[in-house]
Amino acid sequence: MFSSTSSSNIFAGFYSGSQVNYRSTETLYFNEYWYEYESVSAGSTITFSISSTPAKVSFIIADQIFSSFPSVTKTGSITDQITLSNNDDFWYEMLYLEAGGSSISCTFNSSKPVDFFIADSTMFNNWYQGGTPSFYDELTNVTSGVSTYTILTTRDYYLVWYNPYPTIPTINYSISYVAANVYDFSGALIDNEAVYSSSSSVTVATAGTWYFYIYFDPMNSPEESTTITFDVTYTPASTSGSTPTTPANLYYVVPIIIIIIVFVIIIAVAVSRSRRKVSTQETMGVPPTGEIPLTSLSPTVTQAPVTPRIQTSQPEVALSRCYSCGAEMSPGALYCIRCGRKQQGRQVGTPDRTTPAKARNCSLCGSDLEPGTKFCAYCGTPVD
Ligand SMILES: [Zn+2]
Ligand SMILES: [Zn+2]
Repeated sequence: MFSSTSSSNIFAGFYSGSQVNYRSTETLYFNEYWYEYESVSAGSTITFSISSTPAKVSFIIADQIFSSFPSVTKTGSITDQITLSNNDDFWYEMLYLEAGGSSISCTFNSSKPVDFFIADSTMFNNWYQGGTPSFYDELTNVTSGVSTYTILTTRDYYLVWYNPYPTIPTINYSISYVAANVYDFSGALIDNEAVYSSSSSVTVATAGTWYFYIYFDPMNSPEESTTITFDVTYTPASTSGSTPTTPANLYYVVPIIIIIIVFVIIIAVAVSRSRRKVSTQETMGVPPTGEIPLTSLSPTVTQAPVTPRIQTSQPEVALSRCYSCGAEMSPGALYCIRCGRKQQGRQVGTPDRTTPAKARNCSLCGSDLEPGTKFCAYCGTPVD
């Protein structure tokens, strides 16, 4: 029951019981993050439960905007032993590395001869489909190797061991990499990186705006996109330790006062939160999609139609020409119809079918094919 001894206590009682909950399921593409935030007082509790499938994500709670996390250079290594079948088997490791100081160094020993190469996804897909691309580095018919490469372009890199030979090799390899321009979340209150799920509760020590971020770090999973589900509750700090009893003659008056106050607060919160979301995104320097001007907000608007999902490196810009081969792109096309290169996002997987050359529609997605199309503009399926 709420106290009637003073108006500030009534407000505190209402506030301490008013949790703010964010709960949703969203699609996150690689190198994107989702965020929500609340302004809370010291001692407030944030309870969270998040999950992601199929990619690992990083979950961060901090009182700073995403772009203010420091960028650092990290080193890492991967060591493993594999055995390849004979006559056309391969194995690869994939690393997403940023330009500006990243590098790869790989050493391996094999019991029987193998081929090794370092490729990007275009080369890798080309090779997989029978092409003979020029790789970043290549070793053929060797039983040991040392391969190094300095990263010049931000993208996925594949380190591939290929066995076209009749023997069965066992390979021991060790990859050391330098990953430049990596976000450093170590100063955050919660920093759970590369996880499929995370749930706990944390109390913030200082008052302020506390964000939670779900970040799909492309280094941690090779997928193009992942489905995230989150349930995060901000519980404001409790300021009233006791619950005084209410005098009998106020039982009828107090509920009416409370209803009026609650109504006023709901209107005020609705207006202020709409404005907070828009203005914070403006200060982040990232124009949200579907942003509405401040002047169009009215008390009847409870949520500004902004999308918190932010892309950090893959601009959703409609290209007029393929960035790989320069061919003209039709509006809305995702793949180059001449070279098959995906224009945005991560190129993952390999087409498992081919559309017959004279077909009018793509055999995978069914979209219309213009004459001369070598790859479906919408799913990348080759036409041959
Ligand atoms: Zn192209
Ligand atoms: Zn298609």
